[in-house]
Amino acid sequence: MEQQQQPKRVVVCGGGVIGVCTAYFLAKNGAAVTLVEKSSVACAASGKAGGFLALDWCDGGPVSSLARASFNLHRSLAQELNGPQSYGYRPLTTLSLSITESESAPSNSKPSGSNSILPNWVDGPVRSPRTIGTRETTAQVHPQLFTRTLISKAIENYGVEVVIGKLESVEVEETQESRVRSVVLDGGRVINSDAVVLALGPWSCKLQLLSSIFKVHSLKAHSIVLEPKEPNAITPHALFLNYYLSQGTKPLDPEVYPRPTGEVYVCGMSAEEEVPDDPEQIVGNPEAIAVLKRVAKSVSSHLGEGEVEVKAEQACFLPCTDDSVPVIGEVPGIQGCYVATGHSCWGILNGPATGAAMAELVLDGRASIVDLTPFSPARFVGRRKGKV
Ligand SMILES: Cc1cc2nc3c(=O)[nH]c(=O)nc-3n(C[C@H](O)[C@H](O)[C@H](O)COP(=O)(O)OP(=O)(O)OC[C@H]3O[C@@H](n4cnc5c(N)ncnc54)[C@H](O)[C@@H]3O)c2cc1C
Repeated sequence: MEQQQQPKRVVVCGGGVIGVCTAYFLAKNGAAVTLVEKSSVACAASGKAGGFLALDWCDGGPVSSLARASFNLHRSLAQELNGPQSYGYRPLTTLSLSITESESAPSNSKPSGSNSILPNWVDGPVRSPRTIGTRETTAQVHPQLFTRTLISKAIENYGVEVVIGKLESVEVEETQESRVRSVVLDGGRVINSDAVVLALGPWSCKLQLLSSIFKVHSLKAHSIVLEPKEPNAITPHALFLNYYLSQGTKPLDPEVYPRPTGEVYVCGMSAEEEVPDDPEQIVGNPEAIAVLKRVAKSVSSHLGEGEVEVKAEQACFLPCTDDSVPVIGEVPGIQGCYVATGHSCWGILNGPATGAAMAELVLDGRASIVDLTPFSPARFVGRRKGKV
């Protein structure tokens, strides 16, 4: 009797958007997938990000084809999955504008010199509004709902197993060629595998196997989630601000995203800082949170104190590489060990194409959806000491 080929066993480590998208596409394409996450799925940046998506904002750089493929994949995934249990995918109009903080509350009337591109709810002292994205080129998801919906579908439809545990090490067969054999979790549990994908976000720097090849910096950024009393007044317009604390100072660059859930998300105030071991221990700095509240109040009378319930005050870490390009590919010197990280401020946008390309690379040996050459970790080999 003909023996059926066993599906490839793949362990994906990290339950952020990158790990979850990778697990989803691997399992959809026939792999037997285990996802290892040390805390909970989307507990870190992938649950606390803005969820803003742009088709062409990475054009002219190495991330352009990844971003374009991923923007389109978000649209088709939404048609397939964004059903009754919505994860908030919708097209958006996107504006840039300048605003100087003032002590007085917004006037509830349009600023002088404004024009019709400003929605009524943006009634603060705004200058120079400009459309920088249309409903064809910009969109959004609720990142936590997106990531959690995708893992639920991966479990229900394709049998992905989720294990809560901390990856301690990747074990390698020390035969002629170094090949992945298993992963070992905190407490000693061993999971055998034919391939391992490391999608640890800013925690990539804590795994010696990766940090010996390249550096991942962690940039801490803050956000608040507001629930306005009058959610229907807020239209789907994303705002990118030049925010002046006083005339003449260097502007801050916070962003404001209304969500279809009725909430308004405001983020900004970033600085490089070491990521703590436990994602649950990440808290926002009170001063940064206070500035974001003032931003909200300055932009709109609907977002000031007394007009909103504050649903979240939080912080999370962007994973950034030395050359600002994500790292997606096979780890040099270890067959079957792959890495996907360093997506910086575009991980929610680029999650789907990263996951789909990684699934092709692991299962077919090459990616067709995106050329992964610019993202290869091999570009760092020789640049750092103690390489694998
Ligand atoms: C304030 C803010 C706003 C943002 N807005 C946007 C946006 O609008 N659009 C956009 O495209 N991007 C945005 N981003 C960027 C985006 O959030 C990130 O690029 C993306 O979430 C990174 O995903 P990740 O899966 O690589 O990492 P993470 O989401 O950090 O996930 C890594 C996971 O790995 C787990 N882990 C770590 N170590 C281990 C271990 N040893 N064993 C097991 N599990 C482990 C962690 O618990 C975590 O769940 C924003 C980011 C921030 C901070």
